[in-house]
Amino acid sequence: MRKVLAAALTLAVAVAGTSALAQGRGNAGTKLAWFQRHTIFHSGLVGSHTVALTFDDGPNRHTLEVLAVLKNYDIKATFFIVGRMARANPRVLDEIAAQGHLLANHSNTHPFMGSSYDADPQKLIEQVKPVNNEIAPLMPRDTQLFFRAPFGAWRFAHATILNADPTLKRYIGPIYWDVGGEIRMDAQGYVMSSADWECWHKRWPAQVCAKGYLREIRRENGGVVLMHCIHSQSGALVADVVPALIEEGYRFVRLDQVPAYDKYKTPPEKAPLVAVADAGDTGNAPEQGWPASVLPY
Ligand SMILES: [Zn+2]
Repeated sequence: MRKVLAAALTLAVAVAGTSALAQGRGNAGTKLAWFQRHTIFHSGLVGSHTVALTFDDGPNRHTLEVLAVLKNYDIKATFFIVGRMARANPRVLDEIAAQGHLLANHSNTHPFMGSSYDADPQKLIEQVKPVNNEIAPLMPRDTQLFFRAPFGAWRFAHATILNADPTLKRYIGPIYWDVGGEIRMDAQGYVMSSADWECWHKRWPAQVCAKGYLREIRRENGGVVLMHCIHSQSGALVADVVPALIEEGYRFVRLDQVPAYDKYKTPPEKAPLVAVADAGDTGNAPEQGWPASVLPY
């Protein structure tokens, strides 16, 4: 049964791919809107004194602690939800939406989506669609949906497969980040950049981890910030970072308020397809190679 399904899907994808190719002909170096062939690295927020906080891998009970801090400062953020976490913590998921944050899609079970997900399109769709079914009903109609790939792993063919689905093609993604990817120290031993999961792995206090985030945000003067909302110190980290940024006059936005992503929006039905300029990406997202022991799960 699965083989028959996969064959049918492959055919559908092949047809969709041909039509997309035809529409894009004559536009060498351009890509169609929707799911992109390359990870979207450019947020346009660097240098803008504007920050988009993004929280991956939740929800769980620690997400409530993050929500309390955000509520205290009246800041809206974006939460990249993992489907199996949402099903285990449905009330927390509801609470994120109720507080006015943007729900986004971070896959169903957080796998490394390599070539086996192209070989079996249904396997890829089953990583994206169940999460959509969890989050879309909690967002106002016509809310722009976003996707971030687990571990930043992405392949050209993923976009073709997902854009053939009438619901999933409404997504913008995969979205990367500007701040929060790694810990870096300077020669004197000061932490210049942080990555929260690595901070916790090193057993750093939230205050030390926050210094890395703050220094990187100040250097970049804004950006999409990668954090997680599922650790015991997640709330404390946000509580150390946010007030300092407010004090310095930073603005906070959700990803659906980032103008640089507008060009990836799915055109309305019946409107002609529009090819958009290449985001300037040079290849797939770097595969981080994070050791399994450091990962949230
Ligand atoms: Zn993740």
